Amino acid sequence: MRHARELLDQAGTGRGGSQKKVMIEVMVKPGTQAQLSRRAGYSPGLVSDAIKELARDGVVDRSRGDKVRLASMRGVAVGIDIGFNHTSVVARPLERSVGEAATRRGEPGINVGLADLRSDLLRMVQEVVEETGQAMTDVVSAGVAVPRMIDSRTGRFTLPVLPPWEADDDPAQMLSGELRVPVAIDNDANLGVVAEQIYGSDDPVEHIVYVKASTGVGVGIMLGPNLVRGQRGMAGEIGHLIVERGGRMCLCGGRGCLDTVIGSAALIAKVEESHRGTDRENPVTLAELVAKASRDDAVCRRVLNDAGRVLGFALAQLCNLINPHRIVIGGELSSAGDIVLEPCGSELRRHALYAATCSSSDFELGLSALSPFAEAHGALVLGLRTWSSK
Ligand SMILES: [Zn+2]
Repeated sequence: MRHARELLDQAGTGRGGSQKKVMIEVMVKPGTQAQLSRRAGYSPGLVSDAIKELARDGVVDRSRGDKVRLASMRGVAVGIDIGFNHTSVVARPLERSVGEAATRRGEPGINVGLADLRSDLLRMVQEVVEETGQAMTDVVSAGVAVPRMIDSRTGRFTLPVLPPWEADDDPAQMLSGELRVPVAIDNDANLGVVAEQIYGSDDPVEHIVYVKASTGVGVGIMLGPNLVRGQRGMAGEIGHLIVERGGRMCLCGGRGCLDTVIGSAALIAKVEESHRGTDRENPVTLAELVAKASRDDAVCRRVLNDAGRVLGFALAQLCNLINPHRIVIGGELSSAGDIVLEPCGSELRRHALYAATCSSSDFELGLSALSPFAEAHGALVLGLRTWSSK
């Protein structure tokens, strides 16, 4: 059986560059000629010629419906999401769909430091790859999502680097050395929005925002084909949007940032405050707080309702700035479902421009169907796409 690694290695970047890029996009997801043209950023004519060449070489298959699919071959792509106290890994054989990927999620995350996370990370990658029926030598690429700002000019952390990360941590280089494949890195919310635009629906929308709400809050923004990163990778840091003028000090040096109101530490502290003087058990993690709320604990439910409202207020400002078609909420807070989503939606519509959010055909707010693996699937896409420049 052919090996995707050899095909990617042999494909040129010059005249053969368009064929290579179209092949990579088919590996990302089968698509119609129009969809592949949009994703590859090439004209329909150029994509049509590339598909004909790839079909002639037996690399893609056009015999089943109107979508161009990858022919049967060996090769598996990996995506990794390093969270604060969890790590998520996905491995997907290139000829299979996103729903057929092998997935793993477990502790620890970067809270133990990158050096101590290393062996757990590599074990999880090996487990998911083997679960797909392929071997580590079949891995063609990997991508890493991190809850950090990344300077896209250097692929390194934007300074200053806050604990538990250290300035010289380089998870992409570490994994590249171990896996012997290209490994790329980006911010987790940025990769969440990449995954949501491609896999979240079969009818992709152009202007889409992904909200990662866990330890802190960040958003990834796609405007058409462009991921909005900003000059130093700081775009989308909605966790530091001020929602309480003169409010509590934030780790960033600001006051009243969204993170100081709905970050996991702030939410847990609110429950603790209401329990003061009682022997009621406090949730230690956001997951425990969400679980209590889902079991109808009145305090936890109200804390999450309020968090949804504040998130909706912050997202209303974003709607007025960039007029997205779809906002998708992911991260641990999204596992609370309607407890967060309903107050978020009503507060968003209360404060956003009416015309930008009143029609369901022009604006949708929902929960991530890919959660908790949206960021890892986006990292997988990023890793594959690095081949287009090699
Ligand atoms: Zn802040």
